[in-house]
Amino acid sequence: MKYYILFGPPGAGKGTQASAMAERYKLRHISTGDLLRKEMAAGTPLGKKAKSLIEAGSLVPDEVVEGMIENAFDTIKDVDGFLLDGFPRTTAQAEALDKICASKGGEVTACVSLMIPDEMIRERIKHRASIEGRADDANDETITNRIRTYHEQTEPLIAFYKKAGKYEEIDGTKTIDEVRAQIFSVMDKH
Ligand code: ATP
Ligand code: MG
Repeated sequence: MKYYILFGPPGAGKGTQASAMAERYKLRHISTGDLLRKEMAAGTPLGKKAKSLIEAGSLVPDEVVEGMIENAFDTIKDVDGFLLDGFPRTTAQAEALDKICASKGGEVTACVSLMIPDEMIRERIKHRASIEGRADDANDETITNRIRTYHEQTEPLIAFYKKAGKYEEIDGTKTIDEVRAQIFSVMDKH
């Protein structure tokens, strides 16, 4: 099994690139953000708990998303691997992922990172807000907090995966087609 991580700040284009990646490499795309939004839409206890955190631009507890990933790995069998989008987002989650992969006899294949500057994060999220209507895209304060959360809690993972020799950075400011071509050329190596 391959375990690819699709990494990057909010609005970097992870969701945009994921389906082409999943299709080409026969991976199951798992977005923790999408899974959490489904829970919120269905009004489950978990969704209710997650809602206030997400709308404040904070992260949900590590155990919650770790459980989602473990559950997916346990139940999905008919694929060549997984494409993890929005997970891991903290060092604790990255360490948990290493353990979960090891328990399946595997390891993280590569961390494919889409990088864009903070100003572009804001522009893209503002644009997306008018199309997708996500509550956490609509409010400036929430966006500021998501950017801060990314720098404080998620950015340290770059060093984590560099140290493991698994970090592949791609310039996310290019066109969708150019970014996709870059991603494929990196993934073909792993
Ligand atoms: P993108 O723009 O690439 O979709 P995003 O950061 O805007 O990225 P999601 O990945 O969809 O949005 O996540 C939305 C929210 O869900 C996050 O701000 C966070 O509150 C919560 N969330 C998603 N994944 C995790 C995670 N791994 N750990 C903790 N919270 C998470
Ligand atoms: Mg997303």
